[in-house]
Amino acid sequence: ATGIPLLELRSVEVAYGGITALKGIDLEVRQGEIVALLGANGAGKTTTLRTVSGLLTPRTGQVLYAGETLAGVPAHKIVQLGIGHSPEGRRIFSRMTVLENLEMGAYRFKSVSRKDLDQVFELFPRLHERRTQLGGNLSGGEQQMLAIGRAMMGQPSLLLLDEPSMGLAPLIVAQIFEIIERINSLGTTILLVEQNAAQALRLANRGYVLETGQIVMSAPASELLNDPRVREAYLGEV
Ligand code: ATP
Repeated sequence: ATGIPLLELRSVEVAYGGITALKGIDLEVRQGEIVALLGANGAGKTTTLRTVSGLLTPRTGQVLYAGETLAGVPAHKIVQLGIGHSPEGRRIFSRMTVLENLEMGAYRFKSVSRKDLDQVFELFPRLHERRTQLGGNLSGGEQQMLAIGRAMMGQPSLLLLDEPSMGLAPLIVAQIFEIIERINSLGTTILLVEQNAAQALRLANRGYVLETGQIVMSAPASELLNDPRVREAYLGEV
């Protein structure tokens, strides 16, 4: 990590009609980092990622990417700026093949780069084995790999991951987390939303804890891992 902020949220407020989901949050992801965003159901984690991607618009506050405001920049342009998103629930195209799903991830380019495809297949050999199968026929773990692989096809500088471990068996979760670490070591900065706080914090440089739309803690991951409040509320310890 270089210390240079790649993503900055400043006093970001987001509402769904009358419901304020983010109540003015400040958050920073520096170049090269893995940052974990933790919090209970409904805390606003998904809302945060969707706001960065341009799928939601802040009511007030600023989102800056590489020092430039994203205000008024539509979601497809945000992808072009180098922000990839692997959404909650994966959202793969179930009637398209694995290969077609990955090609969709490259839509910001004029053509699909063989090199990017090879890199994704190298990260996820399983996707290569399954490349002609329909997305809908993949296992949960494979679908998660496909969602991440598809986001990687856009060559993101910043990758947003929404609960990659959701609903997966421990062994598969371990594999996914290993691959996330690998993607980061190859140069992609990562903002990771997770319910699985322990594993996320072991991977991350820093973490934020979100509670009902507010950041209540922000610290180096190792500190959060040892914090009694975090241990009790998010690591299932008493
Ligand atoms: P989860 O892990 O359950 O997805 P989360 O931390 O990602 O939780 P969000 O999905 O961001 O939380 O939701 C934050 C708040 O905004 C919640 O109170 C939720 O009910 C509300 N919310 C989310 N999406 C909508 C929507 N489309 N319309 C109205 N309210 C919404």
